[in-house]
Amino acid sequence: MGNSIKMVDLHGQYLKIKEEIDLAIQEVIDSSAFINGKQVEAFAHELADFTGSKYVIPCANGTDALQIAYQTLGLKPGEEVLMPAFNYVASAEAAALLGLKPVFVDVCEDTFNIDLNRIEEKISPLTKAIVVVHLFGQSANMGPILELANRFGLKVIEDNAQSLGSEYLFPNGVRKKTGTMGDISTHSFFPTKNLGCFGDGGALTTNSDQYALTATMISRHGQGQKYAYELIGCNSRLDTIQAAILRVKLRNLDSYIQRRIESGQLYHQLLENISQVVRPAVNQFSKHTYNQYVIRIGERDKIKELLKEKGIPSMIYYPSPLHLQKAYSNLGYHSGDMPVAEKLCSEVLALPIHTELTPQDQEWVINSLVQSINSL
Ligand SMILES: *Cc1c(COP(=O)(O)O)cnc(C)c1O
Repeated sequence: MGNSIKMVDLHGQYLKIKEEIDLAIQEVIDSSAFINGKQVEAFAHELADFTGSKYVIPCANGTDALQIAYQTLGLKPGEEVLMPAFNYVASAEAAALLGLKPVFVDVCEDTFNIDLNRIEEKISPLTKAIVVVHLFGQSANMGPILELANRFGLKVIEDNAQSLGSEYLFPNGVRKKTGTMGDISTHSFFPTKNLGCFGDGGALTTNSDQYALTATMISRHGQGQKYAYELIGCNSRLDTIQAAILRVKLRNLDSYIQRRIESGQLYHQLLENISQVVRPAVNQFSKHTYNQYVIRIGERDKIKELLKEKGIPSMIYYPSPLHLQKAYSNLGYHSGDMPVAEKLCSEVLALPIHTELTPQDQEWVINSLVQSINSL
């Protein structure tokens, strides 16, 4: 609808499955098994089927999932974890809370994902793991990253918060879903992610029997037998109500992803001849699920303002790279250390994309964008 374009449309999406969702929530209320109800385990099985990973460990959110992943891998204070500088804060925050040292790596200008060629120079004797973030719905270049990690004995955590349902095509033709290639992967069901619940939710996935056991234990206060605490853990559970909602939405996930892909491809087409806009690069090796459609544009802040005046919302993911954030200033980075991430932060603009977006909406977004560019 012309005059009501939203950045995301969670309510519109809900209305299409309202009956099923309402019923699922009512069932939980009727059972009153609000914690560890049967829907939690059922959801874990269904998500394992969807991703093809052997184990799914539900937890409270995607940030907890990262913390639990670090703990599961047995990382110790002072050890270093590599991660992209152009990213959401969660991987750095969870590491810092455990006394680990986040070490930032610059990213690729065209895909926004971690730059393979910048990883090796950051590896030190203290480096134990790398967090590969599949940003905005697109897989990082996992084949060579896994090889490199293997060569240096690093564990690989995939942060799949933004890319559930995305895929990576290995050079040998094998295709795998993101979140199934590393040692352990983390997912978020924050409402705006590809699979979102009605609050906070998260999960870890792994194919390792040992990691699955350990992660489960850590998410339950490190408890083995009841009241026997074998590890220092935390309390991180997926609420039964959220699991019940996620089961309904998981059945629709393929069609949600299809809608996102169609919208992403249409933006791509509509922007083809607009020389002032750099479209997000789409890799040959990735199925991009467009959790975000992020363009690069000069005078970004002015354009954002002009769009807003025309009723078009947009967002900046991310306005500042992690290495220049105040909270991480003790790590000693300076402006200029991560030139690509820094440049991206001044150019990126996320356009509205969600499962309810229509082609007419998108034409209106792009027409407004072109008008804004021309009025500069
Ligand atoms: C959303 C997000 C997270 C954190 O998820 P929460 O469920 O909000 O804690 C972690 N990493 C990335 C890349 C994200 O986009």
